[in-house]
Amino acid sequence: NERPAIVLLDLDGFKVVNDSLGHGAGDALLVAAGERMAADDRPGDTVDRYGGEEFAVLLESLDGPDPARQLVEQMLEALRAPFVVEGREVFISASAGIAYSRREGITPSELLRVADIALYRAKASGKDCAVVFDQAMEREAVRRLDLETDLRRALERGEFQVYYQPEVEPSSGMVTGAEALVRWQHPERGLVSPADFIPLAEETGVILPLGAWVLRQACTEVQQWRAKGYVDESFALSVNLSGRQLATPELVGEVQAVLAESGLDPASLRLEITETVLMEDGPGSARTLEGLKALGVELAIDDFGTGYSSLAYLQRFPVDTVKIDRSFIANVGDDARARAIVHTVTHLAHVLGMRVTAEGIETELHVEFVANAGCDRGQGYFYSRPLPAAEMLRLFGRKQEHAA
Ligand code: C2E
Ligand code: CA
Ligand code: CA
Repeated sequence: NERPAIVLLDLDGFKVVNDSLGHGAGDALLVAAGERMAADDRPGDTVDRYGGEEFAVLLESLDGPDPARQLVEQMLEALRAPFVVEGREVFISASAGIAYSRREGITPSELLRVADIALYRAKASGKDCAVVFDQAMEREAVRRLDLETDLRRALERGEFQVYYQPEVEPSSGMVTGAEALVRWQHPERGLVSPADFIPLAEETGVILPLGAWVLRQACTEVQQWRAKGYVDESFALSVNLSGRQLATPELVGEVQAVLAESGLDPASLRLEITETVLMEDGPGSARTLEGLKALGVELAIDDFGTGYSSLAYLQRFPVDTVKIDRSFIANVGDDARARAIVHTVTHLAHVLGMRVTAEGIETELHVEFVANAGCDRGQGYFYSRPLPAAEMLRLFGRKQEHAA
């Protein structure tokens, strides 16, 4: 009649300790963490190393509505205090997934499986917390699995498309380039926005083949526009790079190969990396960025201002362009601080020899403001929404007719 609970507990900051202080320190930390958890447990409970930086806890003789949670919270609290490893103070936290065996006949491996789903949730909601498994999570996990299968299949079936959003010089209104933005033409769901599949593509690694496809497609298409005389050699193509792509050592070679195949001049390609990605990744990605620079492509920091300690990145990474996040532009009408930030970031970037793109230009007032602030390029619905290639060409066609 006992209904025990199984808890899967994963140490959040472990990889950093292991990578920076070495495996000896990592092992010592695992032992110390295990001891702390075991120190708190009740007679009959079991704490086990389950693999890597993961522990499994079996809690028995429970009663009350959610008895495991309190015990787990105590363990998480115990882990938050600093550890001393090889003479250094180290801080970590842990995420936990809890599964109660409320159902008759549930097997231990089934319990572990659902505890893992709850653990995944705890990690996804910001770590350092405990989540109890419920049926809605199961449905969500199945949905994600379906979507992942869909994503891989979509790539094989050619359901992705590249849209282009013009980048414009605000003072003259001239188109200086375009950003490639991926879209998914889903057979049942219609046009799916990247916000709904890029995060999952990142997590599952589908972003690697998908990102490579976007890069190849966009470079090839823009080179065709140039060959046909729709755009001249000053036209720059911006392509987004995800964190996963940046973390692969093959990236530099891949970009080089795409440039060679498509015939696009490296100087016409600008790769955008979000500030948050730069923040997360250390020395490895710095080398990759240098490698990309050496190919002759430009680099841009995307969504600038949404991460933190941004200024350090301007100094550390070899970027050519700062893209000021659209949240600042949206507020320039009624917020003096937003105005000051746009002015100052633009000035700073220029002093450092960088160009500035303002995102989210939606009104005439935004154009006027960023033109006065000296932003080099603007991008937003005021100029144009992202367009399929054919419509982008119509845009150029119209311009050519005007010029003629
Ligand atoms: P992002 O790189 O910051 O791209 C700009 C997003 O802002 C685009 O959303 C664009 O449609 C939207 N936008 C442009 N002008 C305006 C405006 O005036 N007002 C407002 N409210 N929004 C505007 P989209 O196309 O939905 O893409 C969302 C995000 O998905 C992108 O943000 C980017 O982070 C990611 N993404 C898109 N395509 C790719 C890709 O090929 N690879 C990777 N790794 N990420 C991509
Ligand atoms: Ca971007
Ligand atoms: Ca952006």
